[in-house]
Amino acid sequence: MTRTMVLMDQSNQLNVLDVGFLSISMDDALSLVSGVVKADGKECVSFINADCLNISSGDHEYRSILNSQRIVLPDGAGMNIACRMIGKRLKANLNGTDLLPELCEISKKNDFTLFLLGAAPGVAGRMKKNLEASYPGLNVVGEQHGYFDHDSESADVIAKINSVKPNILLVAFGAPRQEKWIHRHQHEIDSNLLIGVGGLFDFYSGDKKRAPMWMRNGGIEWLYRLYLEPGRLWRRYIIGNPLFVYRILKWKKKQSQA
Ligand code: UDP
Repeated sequence: MTRTMVLMDQSNQLNVLDVGFLSISMDDALSLVSGVVKADGKECVSFINADCLNISSGDHEYRSILNSQRIVLPDGAGMNIACRMIGKRLKANLNGTDLLPELCEISKKNDFTLFLLGAAPGVAGRMKKNLEASYPGLNVVGEQHGYFDHDSESADVIAKINSVKPNILLVAFGAPRQEKWIHRHQHEIDSNLLIGVGGLFDFYSGDKKRAPMWMRNGGIEWLYRLYLEPGRLWRRYIIGNPLFVYRILKWKKKQSQA
């Protein structure tokens, strides 16, 4: 399917907790994003999971940013469960970690350039090395850590990005910080795709291990992340997961009464 067809097809549009997103296959997602670059267009891309929707329930700025974007993709088992609870079917789990290898292949083939922005100092550099080793010929034209002062130093960071005009800018500040930063600066940034990717760099740099395949396939990757970082993530998953299910049930009831 072409970029326009994917975006115009109403059957691809779903909504959970008042946030719209696309239910499309991995192939359609890839042709959509590569179509944006080929047409020299500009789109912001976000991934949403249960935690993002929990945050957006209380953060109206984040929610309206997501709803202003044409490309919001469902990431994680929680989105699958939410869709089933409202009687819809999710075509694919489109998390950034699985999408990136495909995006690298396409970028290599089409000469798209990438810029890595985010994570702790050193992480993006290690990721660049790993990507260039895995995809010889891939053109990662720049990197920058995410711990600059987002109020006073963004102009310098944007000047650095614009000096190389990457086709694809990956922004890894975590949600919703990255979505707000991208939204605020999208018109100043010379790039076709501005993609918020959360903790992705920490995995691709080799700093953090991803869950084994059986856990990923079973929809319990979150359990592995919780096991690795219980102090930071218990609230997100132990409280967040049941809260998400409760919110869906409440939202579904409200929808049926409307
Ligand atoms: N981060 C950053 N700048 C900040 C705060 C966070 O670059 O000011 C990075 C952090 O180092 C990590 C990512 O943002 O690489 C967020 O990771 P997290 O696991 O919270 O993201 P998730 O995928 O869960 O949204």
